[in-house]
Amino acid sequence: MGRRLLIVGPPGAGKGTQAAMIARALGIPHISTGEMLRAQVAAGTDLGKQAKAIMDSGALVPDAIVIAMVKERLAEDDAACGFLLDGFPRTAAQAEALDREAADRPLELVLSLEVDEEEVVRRLLKRAEIEGRSDDTEETIRNRMAVYRAQTEPLITYYRDRGLLCPIDGMGGIEVTFSRITAALAAA
Ligand code: AMP
Repeated sequence: MGRRLLIVGPPGAGKGTQAAMIARALGIPHISTGEMLRAQVAAGTDLGKQAKAIMDSGALVPDAIVIAMVKERLAEDDAACGFLLDGFPRTAAQAEALDREAADRPLELVLSLEVDEEEVVRRLLKRAEIEGRSDDTEETIRNRMAVYRAQTEPLITYYRDRGLLCPIDGMGGIEVTFSRITAALAAA
């Protein structure tokens, strides 16, 4: 079973929810750059102050910042026996940096959550109501989708070409999607 995992998919696909469930089931750390950045914002650090305006616009925080953050996180003890990356890499430069930095423990499987666009917008608007995330306004959502298509979607081809991609139908509910992921992990 793959223990060095990445979960990719459009914003609103349910990556964060599924990632937390997978990480708990496998006993590996869930490494979410979005959560790490939101923690920096909440703590009011210099990095958080820099990142907040970018995140609220739906744009991406500079590669150098997130690459350094993930590099440091992967060096922690709990990541030695595996990890699940969520929200990183998001650009080709980040994917190449990860390949370089983690050359001795490469990704084993990339779970690609597939959800159509209408459904992700519906889910994000609902999350805006429930969680009150400041980057879940309608305008930001549209921008995040555009950024995803331009910068992150090409990574699907990148990982498919490397034979790592495992597509998962993400249109169902949380438990149905999780059981699809569990089955895929068992088969991989
Ligand atoms: P997420 O929680 O993964 O949806 O991320 C929320 C926001 O944090 C994104 O819209 C970006 O502004 C920023 N972010 C998270 N991960 C990255 C990343 N790998 N590269 C650049 N920006 C990121």
